[in-house]
Amino acid sequence: MTQFDAPLETPRMQAVQSPIIPVVGALIRQHPGTISLGQGVVFYGPPPAAIARLADFLANPDNHKYQAAQGIPELREQVAVKLKQENGITLDDRAQVVITPGSNLAFVNALLAIASPGDEIIFLTPYYFNHEMAVTMASCRAVLVPTDAHYQPQIEVIRAAITPKTRAIVTISPNNPSGAVYPEATLRAINQLCRDRGIYHISDEAYEYFTWGDTQHFSPGAIADSQDYTISLFSLSKAYGFASWRIGYMVIPTHLLAAVMKIQDTIAICPPVISQHAAMGALQAGRDYCQEKRVTIAQVREQVLTQLDTIRHFCTLPTAEGAFYCLLRVDTPLDAMTVTERLIREHGVAVIPGTTFGLDNACYLRVAYGALRPETAQVGIERLVQGLRAIVGDSA
Ligand code: PLP
Repeated sequence: MTQFDAPLETPRMQAVQSPIIPVVGALIRQHPGTISLGQGVVFYGPPPAAIARLADFLANPDNHKYQAAQGIPELREQVAVKLKQENGITLDDRAQVVITPGSNLAFVNALLAIASPGDEIIFLTPYYFNHEMAVTMASCRAVLVPTDAHYQPQIEVIRAAITPKTRAIVTISPNNPSGAVYPEATLRAINQLCRDRGIYHISDEAYEYFTWGDTQHFSPGAIADSQDYTISLFSLSKAYGFASWRIGYMVIPTHLLAAVMKIQDTIAICPPVISQHAAMGALQAGRDYCQEKRVTIAQVREQVLTQLDTIRHFCTLPTAEGAFYCLLRVDTPLDAMTVTERLIREHGVAVIPGTTFGLDNACYLRVAYGALRPETAQVGIERLVQGLRAIVGDSA
């Protein structure tokens, strides 16, 4: 025994939910052979052009030193071109780009720059768990606003949730975990609401390249005259198979740059320089690289939707035109964690329980299908369908 008998976790950290991916990962390890429809990653790695840049990185000994907190200038320039051409976002004296060690940290940068303890951030449920965790860690309050039956935002409900303490509304389109893509008109209405009420619009666009059919992605940062209150977050993790390289970027109003630089300098000093070099190669390969890979994900998506169609009599599944997720609502009195555990233990397939996304009024399960090749996905989704039938006692 030492005299230091402080509690293991501070009250602040006790209030933060435990990350679900390691929890489900541990269950999967206990049941070897489980097929994971759990983690939101893609099946492919970075383009060869990204790896080719590593030689340049190694050739210059100065690259082993800290570099600019905002990101290396060449990469920022490349990102500026991409933002203009693909997103319609122009960087002028009112908007700046900051390279970040992943877009999760971009969210933390935004949050700490705009909010003080006790301030409120509006999330649309289902929310992305790391966003909610960050808000709790920052001693701010997540205000949860439900979406409609198709997981689409309801403007009037959002409007009613704004208080004098609200600092921002967060949108994620295409959405994790629902796969919903918000129409341009909806994102414009939310952005206008932010403008009218003097709050920020944080737009997470990690899945911008993953829309299906004719559905189009829209960047609120492209809205004329929105630079002063729109914060746009982007990631290379999904588009370029770059998850472990930790590179994202954010577009922020210039008046937030000093605060964001304090935060990034403190937390990361600078984004990993080797990864920034690789990112330059990735952006050079460009969106075509992802377009090719998407063909496989689209094929898996069809398999998933076809299989899930057979259990619609006890599973609600709104159309999801984006990302690589479906969010099922299963008609069962069991809670989502129990169903998830049984799927892993008894049926060898893993999903993520909806409770982690703020859905606790029914049994919701997130199915992620970006990480698997069609052959494995087919087996995984068959296990899921059979498993759910067995768990709910379906005899149809
Ligand atoms: N934003 C959303 C909506 C995500 O789903 C994820 C990862 O799943 C991230 C951000 C994290 O991105 P990054 O790897 O760039 O931190």
